[in-house]
Amino acid sequence: MIKEQEMFEDVRKWHRKILNGYWIVVLISLVAEIVALIIKMKLEPEDVQYFLIHKLVIPTCVQVTLVTANELMERYYKKSYPLLIILTGTLIGAVLIYGNMRVIGIQYVMMIPMLVAAFHFTKKYLTFAFLMVIAELAIMYLLFPLIWNHMTIFERFALFYILSGEYLILIQLLHRGNDLLERLIRTSRSERDLLINNTIMERLSKTDALTNLYNHRTFQEYLDHVIELCETNKMPLQIAIIDIDNFKSINDTYGHAVGDIILKRVAGILQQSLTSNEIIARYGGEEFAILFPEKTLDQAFDICERARESICLLNHMEMEDRRVTVSIGLSGYECGMGKSRFFNEADSLLYQAKKEGKNKTVYQQDKELSGLLDI
Ligand code: GH3
Ligand code: MG
Ligand code: MG
Repeated sequence: MIKEQEMFEDVRKWHRKILNGYWIVVLISLVAEIVALIIKMKLEPEDVQYFLIHKLVIPTCVQVTLVTANELMERYYKKSYPLLIILTGTLIGAVLIYGNMRVIGIQYVMMIPMLVAAFHFTKKYLTFAFLMVIAELAIMYLLFPLIWNHMTIFERFALFYILSGEYLILIQLLHRGNDLLERLIRTSRSERDLLINNTIMERLSKTDALTNLYNHRTFQEYLDHVIELCETNKMPLQIAIIDIDNFKSINDTYGHAVGDIILKRVAGILQQSLTSNEIIARYGGEEFAILFPEKTLDQAFDICERARESICLLNHMEMEDRRVTVSIGLSGYECGMGKSRFFNEADSLLYQAKKEGKNKTVYQQDKELSGLLDI
């Protein structure tokens, strides 16, 4: 619907330009006839009246009426009629021939409406223009033999051949234009497909297929970047490493497929517990890592605890409603600490949580919070 509207507006825009062109033609022929009239008044005053009526008044009135009719259609019906615009062009040409019968080669003015028709890039409009031109020339030949009298038979054939030649060339031009358009559409379509494929590929290469979270490599890249920001802007940064407790026994008891479902579910709950600022990844088999930029240890701790509680409250029907727990090691970044120390600290806190009975979030005691929390 939008495309149709766009095309319609495009045609209207071109018709406006064509109508302006018609007005210019009418004006130029009027000026030329006035100049010719002035000369006539000096050289052949006895012909002035005939000249005034047949060369100036009638042609100008007919041309102005034709263009005005188009203007009215355009303005009141808010519609563009290509056939009307083309017909107007051929009639303006016919009037020009009528007003300048003795001018050698004036018949070639009929090439112009055919060019106007070609603007529409539609074969049927071009054919319509060509047929109208031939029909009008034939009618004028019958009505005003004077137009042809000063032309030799060869010149008449030449006119017909040239108009036919123009028609055939314009048809080929339309084909070429349509070919180019199709090629352009095909190219832009394949470029768009390529862009979509690249985006998908990029997304796939960054994420883990099972959980849809970032993969290990991407997490490392983000970690480097965030630590750099942290060092330059003194931004607070926390890291949490999360490991599913006794996961091996889940696999051993219920099978790998169920293990996969649980992994996916735990990943989903973790992700839901985060704000859009955090970066979460599946770090390894049943291990996840979360970066908390611009969050204090307290804030990160609260988020971790909420996620841990949600996970351990869930009954998994695939495992006879058994529950799953996670252990979390949470550590804060200190300037100059470096990536490995930052990560290793969280990892050893996770190890501590495991040692202390699992299903806990452990953080460094000497930092903002005190004590361990578990539910
Ligand atoms: P802990 O509480 O100490 O963490 O014990 P655990 O059993 O969770 O730890 P362990 O490292 O012994 O076992 C982890 C298991 O996770 C072993 C491995 O088979 C399983 N695992 C790793 N990746 C996947 C996976 O993609 N799908 C499934 N189903 N299992 C996986
Ligand atoms: Mg593990
Ligand atoms: Mg584990």
